[in-house]
Amino acid sequence: MDTGIDGRRALVCAASKGLGRACAMALAREGVAVTITARGAAALEQTAAEIRTATGASVTTVVGDITTEAGRAAALAACPDPDILVNNAGGPPPGDFRAWEREDWLRALDANMLTPIFLIRAVVDGMAARRFGRIVNITSAAVLSPIPTLGLSNGARAGLTGFVAGLARQVARHNVTLNNLLPGPFATDRLRSNAAAEAARSGRDVEAVIAARAAAVPAGRNGDPAEFGAACAFLCSAQAGFIVGQNLLLDGGSFNASFA
Ligand code: NAP
Repeated sequence: MDTGIDGRRALVCAASKGLGRACAMALAREGVAVTITARGAAALEQTAAEIRTATGASVTTVVGDITTEAGRAAALAACPDPDILVNNAGGPPPGDFRAWEREDWLRALDANMLTPIFLIRAVVDGMAARRFGRIVNITSAAVLSPIPTLGLSNGARAGLTGFVAGLARQVARHNVTLNNLLPGPFATDRLRSNAAAEAARSGRDVEAVIAARAAAVPAGRNGDPAEFGAACAFLCSAQAGFIVGQNLLLDGGSFNASFA
């Protein structure tokens, strides 16, 4: 399938590893020039080199914390008029809500709600004027089915989801779409560090924790980030213009419902 986005420009946030990296790689395979960000320069440059080698696409790197104003300004300076915006940032830490202070909540809201909203605000009107825009927010399966220890994530991402649902209906007539991708368990560093925390708590082996979790997924495995990237590229395709304000769950069947 020709996704019709060859030559477009994308800003993919938090993309040196994991799901963000996979989205950038998939978009680059479709001929999109990608600008990728992360805080750590070494992994970011390595990923950029790998994407260039694999796809031949133009890759620009921006080192910075996307949850800060300076980080967002640097990303937008490198890619001022993106046709595609993939919002992503690290997830908040697990814990017990009794221990979280106002600062913990503000950090989570900044990272997983306000950062995507400010980036959307910066680019959405330009997309509407050019009559093409695709915005994909990486959220979490926890938006649909909350994970008890991830209250910061459950709460902050739910706020983003509500905002996106409203804005998506306001800009769709300009061929600008906003949608959310909800990852379940994908084999990334983040999954491994969450499993390591659980292993430390329970005194089990990390690999055993990961294997047990994977076995509980109806698909019998964790997701491959490349599968996530492909879904992102489709949502960013020319053909996806009628998919508006949706929450697409990629979880190997973990959420048990006749429909969601
Ligand atoms: P990951 O493998 O840990 O990768 C995170 C990427 O984001 C890295 O490139 C990291 O690079 C970058 N990053 C983190 N914080 C950043 C910041 N403040 N500014 C700029 N870049 C930043 O994580 P992942 O598994 O891909 O997860 C991506 C998102 O999906 C997270 O919000 C996570 O909570 C969510 N999620 C993941 C899963 C899963 O199973 N993997 C499931 C549900 C939800 P630097 O550290 O160098 O900045």
